[in-house]
Amino acid sequence: MPAVHLRRLAAASLAACLLFAAPAQAGTAHANPGHTNPGHTNPGRTNLGSTNPGQNGSAQVGRGDIILAQANPLGSATGADPFAQLNQFSSQTSSRAEDGVHQALRSAYQALPEPARNHPGIANQARAMGLVDPPVRNGTVGAAGASASSPAPGCANCVALTFDDGPATPTHQLLDILDRKRVQASFFVLAPKANAQPQLLRRMDAAGHTIGNHTATHRELNKLDAASVDREIAQGNDAVRAATGHGTRWMRPPYGATNDTVAAAAARAGAAQAFWSVDTLDWKTRNTEQTCRTAVGEAKPGAIILMHDIHPSTVAAVECIIDGLRAKGLAPVNLDTLIPHPQPGRIYYSRP
Ligand SMILES: [Zn+2]
Repeated sequence: MPAVHLRRLAAASLAACLLFAAPAQAGTAHANPGHTNPGHTNPGRTNLGSTNPGQNGSAQVGRGDIILAQANPLGSATGADPFAQLNQFSSQTSSRAEDGVHQALRSAYQALPEPARNHPGIANQARAMGLVDPPVRNGTVGAAGASASSPAPGCANCVALTFDDGPATPTHQLLDILDRKRVQASFFVLAPKANAQPQLLRRMDAAGHTIGNHTATHRELNKLDAASVDREIAQGNDAVRAATGHGTRWMRPPYGATNDTVAAAAARAGAAQAFWSVDTLDWKTRNTEQTCRTAVGEAKPGAIILMHDIHPSTVAAVECIIDGLRAKGLAPVNLDTLIPHPQPGRIYYSRP
């Protein structure tokens, strides 16, 4: 069963994606006990991830690995964006805005047309900036989907939705959906895309999403020397800091490719390694229903669910996923809520 699954996966990957055959290397795959998909092992410290099925059809990764090179289409937003305008205005102020500036911001917000003012993303950011009151957060309002499961004591029923490889054009819509559903998620961003659309990171930050570092060039970090790994992580961190004013406690090695060198570099950067326990394979199927079914079906308390916000088919699945998780009594939260005290360098497949 796993062999068949992986062979099918490899064939599909070859047909759909740009592939490289990785040189054979030693290493063992560490099965993740929380992982329910029999076709996958979670990436071990010296191996590639579950999105990199072995060509030989065996569940043991590391030999003849196939590596998906995602196209990473840059999604530059076009057209007038009132949110960007608000952000641009905001960025012209100092971080410690004086009363006059704050009042000007408030006036600017109130001068927006009503549809723009009520736009979930804008309203959320405006609340975060103290331009409106009272704050409305975390499902206390009777909005659609807001009445369902909320975090249990100790976050015992929490799961984390995580999105890689953006920000991209679909990210705008995803943030709207998350606002409407009152869900905080986590975004592992690539430095060039973050640098190209810092307003999207500021929007994520203002809405309380966790922003993580997905490096600069999406290379397999386990094949780079220590200085190069440091550089990849530093550039990702710099992009987050440039946009939001703060760094991040989380990084995700592209392809789940890590080793001791990467772990040490992450530790130096103060970032834990966020892996995953549920791989939706959204990048492969590009199927909204299947992405929802996998995410909801495999999610257990403490799960970290892997998706990619560069695919419209994934974004279209998110509402279904949130509703499905809540129907199971699970509460989607951001990584900082799921794992409040991550240990730098350590790998987290789920909440420990
Ligand atoms: Zn990635």
